[in-house]
Amino acid sequence: MGRIALNNIRKSFGAVDVIHGVSLEIEDGELVVFVGPSGCGKSTLLRLIAGLDAPTSGTIHIDGEDATRTGAADRGLAMVFQSYALYPHMTVRQNLSFGLENSRMPKAKIEERVSEAGRILEIEDLMARRPTQLSGGQRQRVAIGRAIVRNPTAFLLDEPLSNLDAELRGSMRAELAALHARLATTMIYVTHDQIEAMTLADRIVVLRRGVVEQVDTPLNLYNRPANLFVAGFIGAPA
Ligand code: ADP
Ligand code: MG
Repeated sequence: MGRIALNNIRKSFGAVDVIHGVSLEIEDGELVVFVGPSGCGKSTLLRLIAGLDAPTSGTIHIDGEDATRTGAADRGLAMVFQSYALYPHMTVRQNLSFGLENSRMPKAKIEERVSEAGRILEIEDLMARRPTQLSGGQRQRVAIGRAIVRNPTAFLLDEPLSNLDAELRGSMRAELAALHARLATTMIYVTHDQIEAMTLADRIVVLRRGVVEQVDTPLNLYNRPANLFVAGFIGAPA
C-alpha cells in the first residue's frame, strides 16, 4: 500500500507562511512529481509528508490512517536527498545495512535485503568500497539502495539527481523509471527540472509560492495548462 492524502496542509515558519492549504491525493503505486521554482515549498511539503516536520494545520493520511502526528520512523516512508548523505567511514554494504541494524530484523534477513538492493541497482561489485571510492552516479545508487532495503510504503525523493552531470542525470532518470516500474511502489519525486517531470511522472503537481496551481498528467498539463504560470513552466505555448 502507499496511498497518501493531504488535506488543507498549511505550514508557517514563524510569521512566514510557506505552504498555503495544499490538498492532494496520491494513489498507491503512483509516481507523482512536484515541480515549481526554487523556494516554492517543494522540499517543505515533502518533509511534512515524511514526518520530518509537522504541519501548522491540516491532516496527512497514509493508507487511510491519520499520520499527521506520527513520527517519521513510523510512517514507513523512505526519503532520498540531493546530497547523498552516505556515511563516509562505512563501506557500501555497511551503508545499506546500517539503518536495519537498529531494528529487530534478523541478520540473515538484513543480508538478504542488502543483496537484493545490490542486485536491483547493480552495485554488487561495489559492496566493499567506501563512498570516496565511488562516482557520483554510484553514490546516488547507494543512497537509493538505502531506501530500498527498508521496503518502504513510498519513496520520497528530493531532487535526487541534481548534483549529477547532464549525461548521468539522463541515464539515472531512466533507471529510476525502471525501478518504479519494477517495484510498483508509490514515489513522490521533487524536481525543478521540467524534463525530469515530464518524462517520469504519472501526474505532475505544479507549485507556486506554496499553492498548487495544477495537478494533471504530463500530457494534459502540456495540452491544457490552467494558466500562464503553468504554461510557462511546462514549456507549452500559452
Ligand atoms: P523548494 O524546495 O521549493 O526550493 P523550500 O520548501 O525549501 O523550497 O522552501 C520554501 C520556503 O520556505 C523558502 O522561502 C524557504 O526559505 C522557507 N523555509 C524552508 N525551511 C525553512 C525553515 N526551516 N525556516 C524558515 N524558513 C524556511
Ligand atoms: Mg528544495
